[in-house]
Amino acid sequence: MVDLHAHTDRSDGTLSPRGLVDLARQTNLAALAITDHDTIAGYDDAAPYAREVGLELVCGVELGARYDGSAIHVLGYFLEAPPDELFRRRLEELKQARRERNERLAERLRSLGLDVRVEEAEALGREQTGRPHFARLLVSKGYVANYREAFEVYLDEQGKGFVPRREPSLETVFGWIRDARGVSSWAHPGRFVRKAGSKPEESFQALAAHGLQAVEAYHRDHLPEESKRFDLAAQKLGLGVTGGSDFHGPTLGGVPLGGLHLKDELLERLRSFSRSLYPAA
Ligand code: AMP
Ligand code: FE
Ligand code: FE
Ligand code: ZN
Repeated sequence: MVDLHAHTDRSDGTLSPRGLVDLARQTNLAALAITDHDTIAGYDDAAPYAREVGLELVCGVELGARYDGSAIHVLGYFLEAPPDELFRRRLEELKQARRERNERLAERLRSLGLDVRVEEAEALGREQTGRPHFARLLVSKGYVANYREAFEVYLDEQGKGFVPRREPSLETVFGWIRDARGVSSWAHPGRFVRKAGSKPEESFQALAAHGLQAVEAYHRDHLPEESKRFDLAAQKLGLGVTGGSDFHGPTLGGVPLGGLHLKDELLERLRSFSRSLYPAA
């Protein structure tokens, strides 16, 4: 069993990178990909430990991009080697852009009468502080009843406190991943396809034309029959296929780590797909 989509507390997950590796072993996963939002710090931290305890750990990342007025998430999988310095610098720039946004977001929330300082969110967010950490802060201060309400009332694009951040375009993100010899995969495409009311085949093809290389057919948001359809559509277009639980922590709902029961073969297929994209120099 493998799981190719999971977050640590280096982004918005709640387990430490080592804690996630321990859980993966308890769950008897053959391989795990850490795919934190905009950072590979969790992978860097977990990699030596995973080697020590004999868990196959894949270096991944989840990047946000703008497409057609929607926020799209793109996974990157680095199967040959973790990304180089250039890619790491690009992540650093994203972190800086988010930090600037967070300052403005805290100001905006204060102007709405909420006592929120950016340092308080950063204390929860460590490497990568984003809106999820602001959401937790608003819950803990009693301004909203729960995480969902924090987004609905304040943090969503329709929320009172929303402040946009500079987000790279899809082409930019695909290019960054390709430059680092990674495989890009459209994370949880079901959300977009449903919202747009589009045919998955057409959306996949449209993104492939922008440089997309694979599709996350298997995700907890997808019904089993949707996953099948996404898998077949991706294969028809010559795209790779990925899948994972999008695990954020044992207390955060969703499916458990490994909860999609994905076969080892999924990672083997991704590996040969990566080799077909980047033949050994
Ligand atoms: P940021 O990149 O800091 O703007 O935060 C984006 C993250 O917030 C996403 O990756 C999601 O994990 C989370 N998020 C965005 N919108 C919502 C929502 N409506 N409900 C719950 N979480 C959300
Ligand atoms: Fe997340
Ligand atoms: Fe996502
Ligand atoms: Zn995710």
